[in-house]
Amino acid sequence: MGSTLVSGTYHELRQRIDVAAQRAGHEVTLLAVSKTKPAAAIRELVALGQLAFGENYVQEALTKQRELHSLLLQWHLIGPLQSNKARDVAEHFDWLQSLDREKLIAPLNRYRPESMPPLNVLIQVNIDDEASKSGCAPELIPTLAEKIAASPRLALRGLMAIPAPHADPELRQAAYRSMRELMQRLRETHPHVDTLSLGMSDDFELAIAEGATMVRVGSALFGTRA
Ligand SMILES: *Cc1c(COP(=O)(O)O)cnc(C)c1O
Repeated sequence: MGSTLVSGTYHELRQRIDVAAQRAGHEVTLLAVSKTKPAAAIRELVALGQLAFGENYVQEALTKQRELHSLLLQWHLIGPLQSNKARDVAEHFDWLQSLDREKLIAPLNRYRPESMPPLNVLIQVNIDDEASKSGCAPELIPTLAEKIAASPRLALRGLMAIPAPHADPELRQAAYRSMRELMQRLRETHPHVDTLSLGMSDDFELAIAEGATMVRVGSALFGTRA
């Protein structure tokens, strides 16, 4: 069934995260990025104790959520959100990590059901100013944060970024340092924010050392995507 392999990979990854977190002196949450992977692969990780999963595409996530509805999982949308999917996200996710424009805030707040806790929200920042990537300009963070905080059905939790895959680790480190500074600045006006989502399969240890409290790991956990 391949389960021993999955279990070995999972425990090894958790251990590497724990070591990095201890060295950095703060707690770190692992988000398992399950995009393109079937519900069966998610089940295997759930059996090992993993409960938080990240998906990039709303429709794909909803299909898996239906297949796995008997399990109490925590779902994060980490891919770009189109306005016409805001209602699906408000009704079916626990976290939105990719909020990057004001237009999304009112519909998310309006559609979040009263029966659910507020939707946890991270502001996605385009830290390397890449034209092709989603995320807001750093200057927009205060305005977005204000509007999210004023929305009773949303809970502002922090910041997220996908730094450019610089081959040079120092350039990545610079991007992480900028994110850490933006996070500190955000805390001055919103002291309860607690989540800095940075780092993927190939650089999560560096991200943790630079302050990440949540790492989003896909291929190092599930194998490379087709
Ligand atoms: C795919 C993806 C990840 C995981 O990437 P890996 O390199 O497979 O670990 C993390 N964050 C986002 C936003 C992604 O789209």
